[in-house]
Amino acid sequence: MKHRAGFLFLLILFALCLGCGAKKPNIVIVLIDTLRADEVGAYGCPRRVTPNLDALAQKSVVFKNAQAPASWTVPSVTSLFTGVYPWSHGVIYAEVGNGNIKSQQKLSEKFVTLAETLHRTGYTTFCISANYHLHPQYGLAQGFDYDKVFLFTDREPVDRQFALWLPEMQRLQQRGAPYFLYVHYFDPHAPYKYHDDFTPLVNPRITPKEAADWGSVDYNNSIHNGIYYDQPDKMGLIRDLYDGEVMAADDSLGKLLKGLPDLDDSLVIVIADHGEAFGDHHNLSHGLDLYSETLRVPLVVKLPKNAHAGSFIDTPVSLIDLYPTLAALAGAVLPKYLEGADIAPLWLGGKTAQRMLFGMTQRDAAHIWYAAVGPRFKLLFHDSANRYELYDMRLDLREQNNVIKTNMDLARDYRRILSGERRRNPLFNPGVVGAPMSDELRSTLHQLGYL
Ligand SMILES: [Zn+2]
Repeated sequence: MKHRAGFLFLLILFALCLGCGAKKPNIVIVLIDTLRADEVGAYGCPRRVTPNLDALAQKSVVFKNAQAPASWTVPSVTSLFTGVYPWSHGVIYAEVGNGNIKSQQKLSEKFVTLAETLHRTGYTTFCISANYHLHPQYGLAQGFDYDKVFLFTDREPVDRQFALWLPEMQRLQQRGAPYFLYVHYFDPHAPYKYHDDFTPLVNPRITPKEAADWGSVDYNNSIHNGIYYDQPDKMGLIRDLYDGEVMAADDSLGKLLKGLPDLDDSLVIVIADHGEAFGDHHNLSHGLDLYSETLRVPLVVKLPKNAHAGSFIDTPVSLIDLYPTLAALAGAVLPKYLEGADIAPLWLGGKTAQRMLFGMTQRDAAHIWYAAVGPRFKLLFHDSANRYELYDMRLDLREQNNVIKTNMDLARDYRRILSGERRRNPLFNPGVVGAPMSDELRSTLHQLGYL
């Protein structure tokens, strides 16, 4: 009898220990497309158009200098999902027209995405995207058990999809099974639409007709013709419309956070894939250069139990760091080729090794740019114009004062490092989905090693 009691005791101990390993937290990434960092209250924006994100930031670790690896969606989100820079995943091109995608490079299935890694370690994985560039046909659904991608839509269908899948997340929560949820809002992206509930709060004088006239018409043409950025009244109106869109996305973020089965114990991250230019450097939109208004993004990390809440971290980090960081927290095995770093030591009070971060964009032959971001300085290379610029991020986060002439040695070092990096070829070659590319573009991509 005594032996039997001892055996039962051991059996119970064993059963308890099966569940006593570190609990994997639910992981939620909310990406707000086109949200520049300085639009967010927690990053100093005086207009307070992100009250829900600001409230979350108070419970979070806030990275003040987070860099996107590219200044438009396709290469940036692909880097977020793969943990490598655009030249290493090779997905740098898509042709868009008439509100649809004509062609886009497809991520190789040989990559093990963040969703695949989390799935393999026991997570049920959900993706809801209002941005069609993430459609499964382009290879970005790898690893998602549930995947819903809309054709460039506003927030409402995204919110409805979240409500549809919420019971499944609640069931997983009750079973103690972890889930990974990726939600991609598109609202702040042009065209900037009028929101009855929000636009009047930003500027009560704007009419819906003005929004229709100025939020979209000829917007892309105007980028190339240089019409708006030197007209302050038009720029102010466009910026107000953008602010209204940001408020709408922030409202949905607030509702989503309230709806999560267990916000307190979850790891919630809010980011953007890139920012947006409003004439900061005689530019508009995004993807056409790599100045801070398009490359610097919000990165807010709410840890389980709000651990380390109120920490502000100045060290530059990249969106490609999220893959190794989240995979390590989930106890997953990492692919060997990841190029990001685990940034958890930064909120634990330690340091990461000094390193260079990178960015690139290549929308067309006239807009090929590369960036190298060090601990303090950032080098920009406009390849199409063969021009270098250097900025001191500590003194000049808005990059108004090019200091390359007084820092030539440093610029030369950065230039050498950058040129070594950007010659890298994709680890696994991408495919192409959709209409064939022009011969010129095919030849350019071939020369760069992408095809
Ligand atoms: Zn985007």
